[in-house]
Amino acid sequence: MRIGIVGAGILGLAVARQMARAGAEVTVLEKEPRIAAHQTGHNSGVVHAGIYYQPGSLKATLCREGAAMLREYCAEHGLPYDEAGKLVVASTRAELSGLRRIAERARENGVPGIAELDAIGLREVEPRAVGVAAVHSPHTAITDFPAVARRLAADVTEAGGFVRLSRPVRAIRQTTDGVAVAAGPERLTFDRLISCAGLGTDGVADLARAGGDVRIVPFRGEYYRLAGPARGLVRGLIYPVPDPRYPFLGVHLTRRIDGEVLVGPNAVPALALEGYSWRSASLRDLRRIVAWPGARRMAAEHWRTGLREVYGSLAKRAFVAAARRYVPELAPADLVRAGGGVRAQAVARDGRLLDDFVIDVRGRIVLVRNAPSPAATSSLAIARHIALTVPLTF
Ligand SMILES: Cc1cc2nc3c(=O)[nH]c(=O)nc-3n(C[C@H](O)[C@H](O)[C@H](O)COP(=O)(O)OP(=O)(O)OC[C@H]3O[C@@H](n4cnc5c(N)ncnc54)[C@H](O)[C@@H]3O)c2cc1C
Repeated sequence: MRIGIVGAGILGLAVARQMARAGAEVTVLEKEPRIAAHQTGHNSGVVHAGIYYQPGSLKATLCREGAAMLREYCAEHGLPYDEAGKLVVASTRAELSGLRRIAERARENGVPGIAELDAIGLREVEPRAVGVAAVHSPHTAITDFPAVARRLAADVTEAGGFVRLSRPVRAIRQTTDGVAVAAGPERLTFDRLISCAGLGTDGVADLARAGGDVRIVPFRGEYYRLAGPARGLVRGLIYPVPDPRYPFLGVHLTRRIDGEVLVGPNAVPALALEGYSWRSASLRDLRRIVAWPGARRMAAEHWRTGLREVYGSLAKRAFVAAARRYVPELAPADLVRAGGGVRAQAVARDGRLLDDFVIDVRGRIVLVRNAPSPAATSSLAIARHIALTVPLTF
């Protein structure tokens, strides 16, 4: 069985490792000259415990399994993994019912060690944070996802597979006995092709003539970091109570494995699939995004929230105010801009943001069509899920 995999992010590499270990001849094709160049290398580094997700969804199941697998993998390979713990903080009494729902859902999802804390209890965990109550998830962890991706790539090559960089996939043809792929200067034939292309998902789907009812809409997440001694104000991870309509919104504070503390990310529309700043825009990408009815419907429905996020992106004041709600000692000078990442978020034709992971099988081609957060946490479990559920032989 020859398996081609598009994308050397954490997901493509986890899938490649899974398949190589099962005896397949695996080739990963990556358009960039390095691995983890996009989402895998531009995220918060949080190993989520699986608190929020709809019970029974792929996200709920694969996040919990993936976190456990990742913990073991990091221990086995000497990779950084620190159970820094996460507090979800209600800063007003009005948020208490939302907080209670979070605790219930975490228990439904079997998240270990969940504790409900009052204002005093939360300060025992995060002495400089304030709030009326909190939910504590002590096993939420932080890691270095690019380092994990590099180790997965090493596993693939050690198992006899190939990770080919600077190989943009630019043609795909499915025949009765294989999938012919042009990647950079190479022509290759596989029995199966698995796409884990993140922001490039629609490009690969178009090459494979696998249209569908979802399209990727890029949302940039921008960060600040805490400068100098202000880093000492945060021990682990501090999150707001999420708005169920926009679960990925809400500035939070996240300790990173290298000791930095990130503030963010927000979520603003990116002006290109790989639009890492307001200056990086692509007319071609924008045309494709605007042409998708789902993107227009989403914009029509959520423009107020969108504008609020854009304001937060342009005005540091708004970011500082959001962070000070949880750690009031923070001053504007403590926050320094720190880049960001672009989320590959699938949006349905009716304007719905797809919540769950989506895996689409078209003959010999498997397309991962939606793998937003917590897909880095879940990567090893998603890889196992694909190997177990997708028919890999004919
Ligand atoms: C701001 C932000 C914060 C996040 N925080 C977290 C977090 O704390 N915890 C967590 O679990 N998840 C988090 N996520 C989500 C997580 O980063 C992603 O779910 C995960 O990295 C997806 O991995 P991937 O391999 O699918 O995608 P990617 O890492 O984006 O990899 C896709 C690869 O495909 C390549 N590619 C695309 N098109 C082609 C082509 N035609 N030919 C060849 N190669 C191609 C790209 O170059 C890229 O390297 C966050 C994401 C963002 C953006």
